[in-house]
Amino acid sequence: MRDLAGRLDLCSINTATLGYQAPIRETIDAIARAGFGAIAPWRRELEGEDVAAVARHIRDAGLAVSGYCRSTYIPAANREAFLANIEDNRRAIDQTAALDAAAFVMVVGSIPEGSKDLADARAQLAEGTALMLEHAKSVGARLALEPLHPMYAGDRSCLNTLEQALDLCDALEPASGEAPSLGVAVDLYHVWWDPKLEAQIARVGAQQRIFALHVCDWLVPTRDMLTDRGMMGDGVIDIPRVRAMVEASGYAGAVEVEIFSSFDWWKRPIAETLTVCAERLQSVC
Ligand code: ZN
Repeated sequence: MRDLAGRLDLCSINTATLGYQAPIRETIDAIARAGFGAIAPWRRELEGEDVAAVARHIRDAGLAVSGYCRSTYIPAANREAFLANIEDNRRAIDQTAALDAAAFVMVVGSIPEGSKDLADARAQLAEGTALMLEHAKSVGARLALEPLHPMYAGDRSCLNTLEQALDLCDALEPASGEAPSLGVAVDLYHVWWDPKLEAQIARVGAQQRIFALHVCDWLVPTRDMLTDRGMMGDGVIDIPRVRAMVEASGYAGAVEVEIFSSFDWWKRPIAETLTVCAERLQSVC
């Protein structure tokens, strides 16, 4: 496993961690100034911006882009809305390519309002991902399916385990010997509890399907299902153990901090959060 001490260049900040307190250019500069090697911006921060100019700003700041967040939910109540979701995602995939991001991060959505048909949501996910993959390949971008903790199965994601995500990868893009365009984002918050985690990470090794590694911590108790993620070291996840597995599988990309924290970190100054992220990455991850 890589030693992160003195190696913030291997580390990335997902801008959600900073609570969107500053415009994207200030955020880029703050992350670069703190010594990190990469950034993962969100689409909401690029609305109304010239994406090529932002890409240049990121490059000039010396940062790589470890991921671009995130997809519009795929499943919809009718065909027209489903196709509109895919079209929206195609535009975001174009931006992913313009940013030269390591991957477009896919948070896939789940049963549309009024429905109880989880199997149908998963069928729409498979069809939608296939359509997006075709487009991603044509523009040279990669798609990272991010399985979400099952507590989100009712709204945010019908993709809930690494095994399910990898099965979908295998079905849509069978191993061919070429580098894959469809892979996964391993977010410790979502997968740390999974008894099959080690086996599934080992499974991706040969195909190099891990495109992103997101770290934070699981707080006990958790006060909010979405916005009470912990700083690394403040919770119960054995982060080095999982990172060791992921890196043993051949992952050589960034270690990206992604913390949604309306109770704590979003209330702190950006510089303070970045300092603590840097300390924890080098000491407890
Ligand atoms: Zn994530």
